[in-house]
Amino acid sequence: MKLTVDRNLCDGNGVCMGIAPEVFDIDDDLTLHIVDEIPDDPAVHARVRQSITSCPVLALTLEE
Ligand code: SF4
Repeated sequence: MKLTVDRNLCDGNGVCMGIAPEVFDIDDDLTLHIVDEIPDDPAVHARVRQSITSCPVLALTLEE
């Protein structure tokens, strides 16, 4: 599972971080960071998928 963010779209609103805080982090400059290794946990993967569909600007893309 590999996640990428389109930085031209992401505005740092933090919706994804609210859903999957173990995967997403927003720094003080509202820059999104994604962990290098997504935990191999079905519950986390489900939250990642929810984050993708919940992103208001659809900035997240998943490659499996
Ligand atoms: S929900 Fe979308 S726009 Fe908001 S921080 Fe996450 S990737 Fe960026």
